[in-house]
Amino acid sequence: MTTIASSNPSSSHPTATGYRGRLAPSPTGFLHLGHARTFWLAQERARGAGGILVLRNEDLDRARCRADFVSAMLEDLRWAGLEWQEGPDCGGAYGPYNQSERQPIYVQAFEQLKASGLIYPCFCSRKDILRALSAPHASDDEPLYPGTCRPRAGEPPAAPPSVRSPSWRFRVPEGEAVEFEDAAQGHQRFRAGRDFGDFVVWRHDGLPSYQLACVVDDAAMAITEVVRGADLLVSTARQLLLYRALRLPPPAFLHCHLLTDEHGVRLAKRHETLSLRTLRARGVSPARLQAGAVLDAAGRPR
Ligand code: GLU
Repeated sequence: MTTIASSNPSSSHPTATGYRGRLAPSPTGFLHLGHARTFWLAQERARGAGGILVLRNEDLDRARCRADFVSAMLEDLRWAGLEWQEGPDCGGAYGPYNQSERQPIYVQAFEQLKASGLIYPCFCSRKDILRALSAPHASDDEPLYPGTCRPRAGEPPAAPPSVRSPSWRFRVPEGEAVEFEDAAQGHQRFRAGRDFGDFVVWRHDGLPSYQLACVVDDAAMAITEVVRGADLLVSTARQLLLYRALRLPPPAFLHCHLLTDEHGVRLAKRHETLSLRTLRARGVSPARLQAGAVLDAAGRPR
């Protein structure tokens, strides 16, 4: 059995001069306390390392992203005490910082993957293909792809039916263990083909999936550490395969523990009562908010 392991990025990243972290919200609703907590931790890591924090607006999903959510997002982040040194509002050397303006960079990566033979066209019309633009959080992680359109090893992809353009899937190396060290969760190990299957990298409507856009952008923006919620651990395994396929150095990872509601359900944009907007309207100060969720090194409230 072969394994893929992420190396220490801070020393291996060719373009990074020091720590570079990122906040990568999607403007599909109002940000909530869970986002703020992850982002505070990201900010703490960047400050602790004397580094840079980048704000990337993940606005690929045109049907769900809205301009008013973008302005609310910036306002709420600032109100919550977050500061970034590069972003759509302040520019920077690694822009543009709106994903909707980065299509040529994604197309290039897509062409590279096509040339490598590691992806194949998929004509299945499934909900998970439609959903591929957003990050698959633990509760809605994409089901294992049954392999309907996967060509047999050594065979060319099936002749494309002319009905519509295909989406494209990454052929995961069956049985391979994808391993990485997580700064909060410790050693992680996922088995390709068992814990996750062939995943969409390119949608039939010509947009990259979250997995591809995220890898391409984190690499292009020279991010050295990704701080995000623990519900994206499996996505990190997928993304490590993409880093390898695209010959890009992976960053380090810190997946923080998730805030849940009283029923143990991960906070989501539908939890309006915990949206930063609502908390602010109720007169909660950002200082109180932060003090009430003082984080330990792993992102748990102390
Ligand atoms: N825009 C993604 C989300 O909000 C970002 C996930 C990530 O940090 O990679 O879920």
